[in-house]
Amino acid sequence: MKIKFSFLILITAILFSCKDNNFYSMDDFAKVEKIDAHYHIYTDENVSVDQAEKDNFELLCINTYSGRCERVADAQQWLTALHKKNPETVEYTTTFCLDGWDEPGWVDNTISWIDQCVADGAIAVKVWKNIGMEFRDKDSVLIMIDDPQFDPIFKHLADNGIPCVGHLGEPKNCWLPLEEMTTNNDKAYFAQHPQYHMYKHPDFPSYEEQMAARDRMLEKNPDLTFIGCHLASLEWSVDVLADFFDRFPNASADMAARMGQLFYQTRNDHEKVRDFFIKYQDRLLYGTDIIDSGGDAVPFQKNMHETWLKDWEYMVTDNTMTSDLIDGEFQGLKLPKEVINKIYFENAKKWYKLQ
Ligand SMILES: [Zn+2]
Repeated sequence: MKIKFSFLILITAILFSCKDNNFYSMDDFAKVEKIDAHYHIYTDENVSVDQAEKDNFELLCINTYSGRCERVADAQQWLTALHKKNPETVEYTTTFCLDGWDEPGWVDNTISWIDQCVADGAIAVKVWKNIGMEFRDKDSVLIMIDDPQFDPIFKHLADNGIPCVGHLGEPKNCWLPLEEMTTNNDKAYFAQHPQYHMYKHPDFPSYEEQMAARDRMLEKNPDLTFIGCHLASLEWSVDVLADFFDRFPNASADMAARMGQLFYQTRNDHEKVRDFFIKYQDRLLYGTDIIDSGGDAVPFQKNMHETWLKDWEYMVTDNTMTSDLIDGEFQGLKLPKEVINKIYFENAKKWYKLQ
């Protein structure tokens, strides 16, 4: 009888451990190889790299054309140097400027700049929301991402297998008054950056027009590998994002700075969000949008570690959680290991052609 009872315990233990083997735990965080596929470093210090190595992360640093063109060139230099110094930990993208847009050599000069950056080590090219929200041509017409002048550039990227990473438009919240926004981080960002709060600028294109311009650009360039930043600005609905993935098989999306919208949707319909992650497990890349501009290392590294750990808890456990990004409680997704490995590592390698 005693033997039979021990046998039963053994079988139960084996079954239990097999079941558990399909999932990671909080203790696995530092053991699993991960990539933060949307990170910014605008300093030549090693603060981010040191913490990334402790937490088993590689950093994909995205150079963005915000500010002046000189800043883009400076960041290209820093990131090239940082990548050469830490080839196992740092990869980076380049971007291009719109200075000289109305002059005849702009397209050729831009292609030469991109090729030089790629030869130096950049792995992709970023386009930002200031296309569609800020830059105007000599006739004061707003330049949209499907402007024909961009066609030879996107064709060049597609022909040469260079991925394009695009933050185009903004979260849908941007077109709402502050009090109607769904997440606290959007409320804070648009309160601080009223120039990008489109609710206050009804003369600019609508959310739907921004998305339509992006989609027309992708329709013109079916061979272009596209990574849509911030859940491709379709953060408010996993159904709409699913439809985007179905329409554009060469498109993926990172979730940088949009965890709040995922938490919000999870709070309302946990099963729907979990099913979405499982169905589109090949199309989603983990990323944070953390910006390292130098400064005090200790609190910065603490924030990096805590952000990464909180997102890990959401992805791998079914804990009941809260976040200062939204009001109320939500439950972690507890995604299978296979899905986590893709979202945290394999998809970034695949979509940015790092293999
Ligand atoms: Zn970013």
